[in-house]
Amino acid sequence: MNVVDVVALAKETQICKQCKHVVVGKGNEKAAILFVGEAPGRNEDEQGLPFVGAAGKNLDKLLEKVGLSLDAIYVTNILKCHPPKNRDPLPEEIKAHTPWLLSQIANMHPKVVCSLGNYATKFFLAGGNVDEMNQQPGITKVHGKVRMISINGLSIKLIPLFHPAAIIYNRKLIEEWEKDMEIVKREISQRQLF
Ligand code: URA
Repeated sequence: MNVVDVVALAKETQICKQCKHVVVGKGNEKAAILFVGEAPGRNEDEQGLPFVGAAGKNLDKLLEKVGLSLDAIYVTNILKCHPPKNRDPLPEEIKAHTPWLLSQIANMHPKVVCSLGNYATKFFLAGGNVDEMNQQPGITKVHGKVRMISINGLSIKLIPLFHPAAIIYNRKLIEEWEKDMEIVKREISQRQLF
């Protein structure tokens, strides 16, 4: 599917008809590292940018700690539109929105994808097959475990991370995040990445 078609497919969903902004992404589209979250929240819908609310502030802090700026990464979501009341994404929505994500990945060709939380992680672990997402292990099992995946013919290093919203008030998960980010740091400092 070309870019026009993938955008049109996403825009046919009810969440896209109801939202204020379609949230495409932010950062450097030529970066080697892609962070993928779940879906825009209310603040993201208002501003048209991903991760600008409470989870976003947390993500900024965590990225700063490992010296990653928006120049070095691109940030997007599985869904490009805000689901009402932050409800979970529906399989039909994931099916309609992820061709757009896959087209972003094809253009960007990142070496590393950091999946944030269960939905993004399961999508990548299932190789992009939405019907197989619920057979994948959850983030608690796989966070910080680096693996090579093949998605749309591209070979990508996947690093699953807890969702930054999940760790806001959880000291234990913050410690886990920090350990996982050491892994991210190690992986991205490998010379063959660039
Ligand atoms: N949570 C997400 O998964 N994505 C955002 O853009 C904001 C909050």
